[in-house]
Amino acid sequence: MKAARLYAYDKAMNVELKIETVPEPTINSPDEVIVRVGAAGLCRTDLHIIEGVWRDEMDADGALLPYVMGHENAGWVEAVGAGVKSVKPGDAVICHPLRSCGICLDCRRGEDMYCQNGIFPGLGTDGGFAEYLLTNERALIKLNENVLPVEVAPMADAGITAYRVAKRAAKILNPGSYCAVLGVGGLGHIALQCLHELCGARTIAIERSEAARKLARELGAHHVLDGGPDVVAELKDLTGGGAHAVIDFVGELGAEQLCWQMLRKGGTHFIVGYGGQIEVPTLHIILNEIAIAGSLVGNYMELVELMELNAEGRVKMHAQQYSLDNINTAITDFKNRQIVGRGVIVP
Ligand SMILES: [Zn+2]
Ligand SMILES: [Zn+2]
Repeated sequence: MKAARLYAYDKAMNVELKIETVPEPTINSPDEVIVRVGAAGLCRTDLHIIEGVWRDEMDADGALLPYVMGHENAGWVEAVGAGVKSVKPGDAVICHPLRSCGICLDCRRGEDMYCQNGIFPGLGTDGGFAEYLLTNERALIKLNENVLPVEVAPMADAGITAYRVAKRAAKILNPGSYCAVLGVGGLGHIALQCLHELCGARTIAIERSEAARKLARELGAHHVLDGGPDVVAELKDLTGGGAHAVIDFVGELGAEQLCWQMLRKGGTHFIVGYGGQIEVPTLHIILNEIAIAGSLVGNYMELVELMELNAEGRVKMHAQQYSLDNINTAITDFKNRQIVGRGVIVP
């Protein structure tokens, strides 16, 4: 099969994925499923993988290279292991990004991302920038009949990540309160839609790209700011003292230091984008009683809920398609912030 494989980590990102022919995956245990990839979303995590951000966590000596990236996958079931009951060949499915075990206590609590035995295809092991992907039955959600894999692939990770954090923020937001969303890219544009579905708060989209600001307005953001040097003062002025929640989809390049400053007393800063460092005076934290919280992807049920919203047309993915042969162009466009919504690779 055709696949795009990563051969080296490079902080400067001067490496290209190699498009080559590799053996198709095979089923080795009764719960495994082979999915014919319909589409795979291109994620900032893929850029971070190439940069080597994850290297110390999982591949310090580079022994796992080369491998196929791609963890936001949807497609059609191609083959199933002997124990698989819930899907059959031909079913259209979306794949939760983690192959969780279902047995450990964290899995039993429903927090798939905490699984102690999880495997994450696309990070150190083969993912979906290929014609076929190996995963397990537990990761799969059947798509509603009116939904095509290419329309939803990035929902598998970008989508649930945005949904989970929006759901958490919604718990502390009420009609009349303010939620700032920093970065209206692949995740931010989903988060705006989810917030509008889940709570009555006013949304403030903060984004440097004009095209993404236009998308934010189309999606009904109540206010749109351009993220200039006075953004903290502008936001405080607009909200009469700060936002009740700030969701940071950037998490690097200085954005992470602005978010907590945008909060009003008692507010929460949710971190989703990553790569930078946060330094907050402890006096500021207690005096303003702010909270800083990380949010990691989402669990299986959150993906189920998001797919319900999607099937009803209430939360949609805006995507730009690239063929697998053009994946390096997609990566370059992504780095240069030329993709509006999500980049999607179609094999
Ligand atoms: Zn992702
Ligand atoms: Zn588990």
